[in-house]
Amino acid sequence: MYPSVNVEENFMDIRHSIMTACEKSGRAASSVRVVAVTKNVGVPTIHRVLAAGIYDIGENRVDTALEKMSAVTHNKAVWHFIGSLQSKKAKHVASAFTYIHSLDRLRLAQALDKRLDQHCPLKCFVQVNVSGEKTKAGLRPHEVKDFIAALADFPSLQIVGLMTMAPFVRNAEEVRPVFRALRLLRDDIQSLQLSHAPCKALSMGMSNDYQVAIEEGATFIRLGTSLVGNETLR
Ligand SMILES: *Cc1c(COP(=O)(O)O)cnc(C)c1O
Repeated sequence: MYPSVNVEENFMDIRHSIMTACEKSGRAASSVRVVAVTKNVGVPTIHRVLAAGIYDIGENRVDTALEKMSAVTHNKAVWHFIGSLQSKKAKHVASAFTYIHSLDRLRLAQALDKRLDQHCPLKCFVQVNVSGEKTKAGLRPHEVKDFIAALADFPSLQIVGLMTMAPFVRNAEEVRPVFRALRLLRDDIQSLQLSHAPCKALSMGMSNDYQVAIEEGATFIRLGTSLVGNETLR
């Protein structure tokens, strides 16, 4: 057995940090939604997350996510797909997830749209590679506006916002410019008032940098290790 982490206790600490970051930046704590990233933990820990009152669950691999979903009994769970997605697996994401945070190409948009019902659109974040690291997925910032304009062709996709992953650094202050750049890009797109792309949300910030991300406007933070630990390590 893995030593079980205390999700509830971790969440109390995290909530405190969220409140501090919100106070610093004049935001309401209720404007920040925690997505529990459960990719490295099993179903019992997902049940602890849900029991702690966190209903947004993030997974990054289709096959294991579907297995976990079928074993999770809680009916309030809202599933977020946060990983890179092959177009051939799009149908599973379209049918089982409420959000995708990693929309990064038209072929994938088309594959998702084809499987969806217009009355029940998929909420999409467009993933942006702000820092330009070669290993990171996502569009470069200058490509995002045209990409989002082209997504108007897919009526079952609702573009709710932008997502980024910042480079891993020891001092989170170093990645503040990455978060700020994503916010400014979001502001630009939001001001276009596209009906298919309200683009109000910002999915940014992970365990090591979420306070800074919140100060820069994050509305969804994606927390794995700091909230649920990692059961694949021993
Ligand atoms: C794993 C992962 C996270 C969570 O990372 P932690 O550092 O464990 O909080 C967030 N976003 C994405 C896209 C991930 O793959």
